[in-house]
Amino acid sequence: MLSIIVPAYNEEEVLYEFYRRITGVLEGLGLPYELVFVNDGSRDDTLALLESLSRQDDRVVVIDLSRNFGKEIAVSAGIDFARGEAIVIIDADLQDPPELIPALVEQWRNGYDNIYARRISRDGESIIKKTTSFLFYRFIRGMTQIDIPADTGDFRLLSRRAVDALKQLPERNRFMKGLYAWIGYPAIAVDYKRDPRYAGETKWNYWKLWNFALEGITSFTEIPLKLASYIGGFVAFMAFCYGAYIIVDTIVFGNDVAGYPSLIVTILFLGGIQLIFIGILGEYLGRAFSETKRRPLYFVNKIIKK
Ligand code: UDP
Ligand code: MG
Repeated sequence: MLSIIVPAYNEEEVLYEFYRRITGVLEGLGLPYELVFVNDGSRDDTLALLESLSRQDDRVVVIDLSRNFGKEIAVSAGIDFARGEAIVIIDADLQDPPELIPALVEQWRNGYDNIYARRISRDGESIIKKTTSFLFYRFIRGMTQIDIPADTGDFRLLSRRAVDALKQLPERNRFMKGLYAWIGYPAIAVDYKRDPRYAGETKWNYWKLWNFALEGITSFTEIPLKLASYIGGFVAFMAFCYGAYIIVDTIVFGNDVAGYPSLIVTILFLGGIQLIFIGILGEYLGRAFSETKRRPLYFVNKIIKK
């Protein structure tokens, strides 16, 4: 059986069209399947629409979370619930074309565990978004040993053993793209063209994307922390040399009390470096803090099934 996991947050405008297209594809596939929608605390009519879908179609299951937890956690909830031999994670907004699913299934039959859809073009997204995302992937790939494929999202098929591996990762700060890569297992890409959103609007803004990038960096590399010791060490060394020079200079030539520019530059520079690294420490500490609380990832309000 195939489980399709669909996180949905305020998607009332696209759900019917999504349902129509994906059932068309799935019925053509000839495999038994379940469609697991995770309602991530939507404030519009998403839940009501999903309920009516589940009344019409007994392959539809709706997991209604107790509030909005964010896409990564909604996907995790779907993964915990899915019973299929293979699961497909797909967005509700039709940016991930359901028509690609047969190609994913074919690679699964060829023995791959993690078949990720790789976008070769993205229509309907701004130049800034494309560039920042391009830079982010190169940056994070340069910083960690884990091979996080560029230009992929959550749209993918995972085999049962890959899903079981994923379920064993207990972290609360879930940078899914990193986690999919971290579990290992044979992986392969299937290329597709990313369409613009069918309707509705994206839930991402640059602030969220920035935090998402921080999440990825802090959960998959300690290089920023190491940088703190190296740059700190280097700056301390320079400060020491400069101090020695000042002492010698004062002893040999006397001191006519100038030095305001060098003083202020040094103070500002050291202050700046310290603040940056306190900030980096804070990012890691904050995440360590949220991990130690060991809170459950999510709560389910109700599960709707015919
Ligand atoms: N989503 C979610 N919870 C959220 C935000 C988004 O479940 O807090 C879902 C959303 O309904 C969609 C998918 O995640 O199915 C991708 O969201 P979106 O299209 O806004 O992201 P983008 O495609 O712009 O990266
Ligand atoms: Mg989208």
